[in-house]
Amino acid sequence: MLGESQPGHIDQIKKINAGVVYRLIDQHGPISRIELSKKAQLAPASITKIVREMIDAQLVTETEFQEMASRGRPATGLIVASGNWHYLALRIGNGELIMALRDLASRCIIEESRPLPVDDVRPLQFLIAGQIDAFFLRHHDKLARLTAITITAPGRVNASLGIIHSMPFYPVNEMPLASFLSSRIGLPVFLAHDIYGWTLAEALFGAARGGRDVIHLVIDDNVGAGVITGGRILHAGGASQVEIGHIQLNPQGRACYCGNQGCLETLASVPYLLDEAAQQLRDYPDSLLHQQLLTVGALCQAAQCQDPLARQLISDVGQRVGGLLAVMVNIFHPEKIVIASPLNQAAAVLYPAIRRAISQQALSSYGDRLQLEASTINSAGTLAAAALVKEALFEGSLLIQLLQG
Ligand SMILES: [Zn+2]
Repeated sequence: MLGESQPGHIDQIKKINAGVVYRLIDQHGPISRIELSKKAQLAPASITKIVREMIDAQLVTETEFQEMASRGRPATGLIVASGNWHYLALRIGNGELIMALRDLASRCIIEESRPLPVDDVRPLQFLIAGQIDAFFLRHHDKLARLTAITITAPGRVNASLGIIHSMPFYPVNEMPLASFLSSRIGLPVFLAHDIYGWTLAEALFGAARGGRDVIHLVIDDNVGAGVITGGRILHAGGASQVEIGHIQLNPQGRACYCGNQGCLETLASVPYLLDEAAQQLRDYPDSLLHQQLLTVGALCQAAQCQDPLARQLISDVGQRVGGLLAVMVNIFHPEKIVIASPLNQAAAVLYPAIRRAISQQALSSYGDRLQLEASTINSAGTLAAAALVKEALFEGSLLIQLLQG
């Protein structure tokens, strides 16, 4: 048994060490080998070996830089070398597929949106595969070495198995998207729930960067949250995610794609809001919303202009979401809630409603010191999928594949 388990154990240590070293270079580069050895708590000889392999694989490169404490000659530091490795980042949205070619520094080379019709009778995985093939054909002259495909999608997603159980908008049932695409295209495929990927992006690049205890709230086509607790994302890489959108608020409410009814998502999402606004307009003959196309932008603008219907609808959403956030505040004691939503355009109405609900329903010692802050990341893009690649590199698994060519 020992003979069998030892190589696996050594591989595991190699994977973890490589991931740690790469993360430190990514986050602190340019960084000297000596500093790297201190921060990684690895012997200088180990650092030399790992770094040599990474330089050979064109994953990191050397550069001259002036060390903070030194006025002497420039030192040799290490930085992430990104240009030689690309990956494809996808976001499945309502009726569209966003595809981006990015490099390992998360820089976007090309980002495009293509229609992904919700009423197409062909299986969704074939439509997506067809769009990927066409993307590669269109841009074959720009491709460097491809490392992976990463996908974020709304719905009930099992990231560890690469399966989407069900989705809003699309009639999906137990779709094994990751294995389907991986066997067809021959690249590793990382799949995660939209909101998980987005929380990860907030932690790596956005408003939650450096935060130890943060709740990331999303109110968009879907409603959900991600949790950073003790500096780590809850349910990282797991089979499930935080599901506040599918907590039932009204047992007699509208049917939800999850199989239940009256979920928060059916009472607080953007499609719900627009639907509700359309239904209630006849009771508000003076509403500003009569004069224009009913969009989330128009709704927010009307709310800012004191339109009673728009203000009431957005405030109700804040109250409902805030009630569930109050429970999370009592459990996780966040220092900050990062809010990602097109309703941020009416933050002056939404945020006080959320804060009121939290103040009324959570312990004041946790609720009073809480900051509410708008997300700085564009939800419609592929940065959430880009964050998944960083996670896979830092965790070591993807890195080992790249080191082995
Ligand atoms: Zn539901």
